[in-house]
Amino acid sequence: NYNRSDKDKEVNVQVLLRCRPLTDDEQRLNMPYAITCNDSKREVTVSQTVGCKHVDRVFTFDKVFGPKSQQRSIYDQAISPIVAEVLEGFNCTVFAYGQTGTGKTYTMEGGMRNKGGELPIEAGIIPRAVRQIFDTLEAQNADYSMKVTFSELYNEEITDLLAPEDQLKSTEDRPKKPISLMEDGKGLVIVRGLEEEMVYSANEIYSLLERGAARRRTADTLLNKRSSRSHSIFTITIHIKEGTVGEEELIKCGKLNLVDLAGSENIYRSGVREARAREAGEINKSLLTLGRVINALVEHSIHVPYRDSKLTRLLRDSLGGKTKTCIIATISPSALCLEETLSTLDYAYRAK
Ligand code: ADP
Ligand code: MG
Repeated sequence: NYNRSDKDKEVNVQVLLRCRPLTDDEQRLNMPYAITCNDSKREVTVSQTVGCKHVDRVFTFDKVFGPKSQQRSIYDQAISPIVAEVLEGFNCTVFAYGQTGTGKTYTMEGGMRNKGGELPIEAGIIPRAVRQIFDTLEAQNADYSMKVTFSELYNEEITDLLAPEDQLKSTEDRPKKPISLMEDGKGLVIVRGLEEEMVYSANEIYSLLERGAARRRTADTLLNKRSSRSHSIFTITIHIKEGTVGEEELIKCGKLNLVDLAGSENIYRSGVREARAREAGEINKSLLTLGRVINALVEHSIHVPYRDSKLTRLLRDSLGGKTKTCIIATISPSALCLEETLSTLDYAYRAK
């Protein structure tokens, strides 16, 4: 048995597991289940036949959300406290990690557009976080400003999903505005060239999100399933005025990063030919480095290899230290995905 609670509790890395239901097609094909979730015991059991022996492996996580769990309960139980921290001035990151088709985008975005002020029941983490942030600030009658960025990391290169159309061409050679990554003396990450949109309402953010998500989908059709090989990073930065001391204004600044990672099936694959070879390598780099960085943080290592990939450089000021990190590992219940599921469970388990 693998029990995550045996280890150090101090580090603010939470690892959740979500198993999606079988799709209609999988149900029609009578696809066998390989996964059993016990949400209250926080356990996932993988049933496997090796040779003629039947083997069960049990993994324990901070929280487990089985196939019947609703978007809302994941949000309320796991994400809402993180968003509250952001509003207190901390930097936090939520990752969706898993094989393509297991529900990363569904978990992060889900149904986005609110009808008459209400979020649809399938609304995912991003729209719910946006609503919580605005509701809280309005209830506090806070004096605040907010900006968002939405970018994509593909081949270790950052693309702005909010840049005006003419600056972003979704072609193979992709001529576009250069985006560069820097750090100031205090370890704050600065991304130069990325469109920062000031936002004043939840609806404005929903429109930006739809624009960026549509752009990812377009790129998908042009470049054979690009989104399964790219990471998308949605960031909300909030400045809240806390008061004044003499002439000085006291400002609280919090940042929330919501990251839909590349499909984990890309992580260990190598030996891909020519054009794809570089890409496979580079995707490995960000996903593998993220795993190593999180390992180093939970193991309290002296050296945290932030610099080894673009993703971890980009998120450096939101990983480790006084930040909170949540990884949602997504899996399919189907026996056909068993191998990838085990690799996701191992990666997620090692994250603590
Ligand atoms: P990924 O982003 O990991 O590739 P998607 O989020 O696109 O996967 O999910 C694949 C399909 O499964 C989509 O049609 C999605 O709506 C559906 N799906 C994923 N998770 C769930 C869930 N928990 N409940 C219902 N449908 C889901
Ligand atoms: Mg996706």
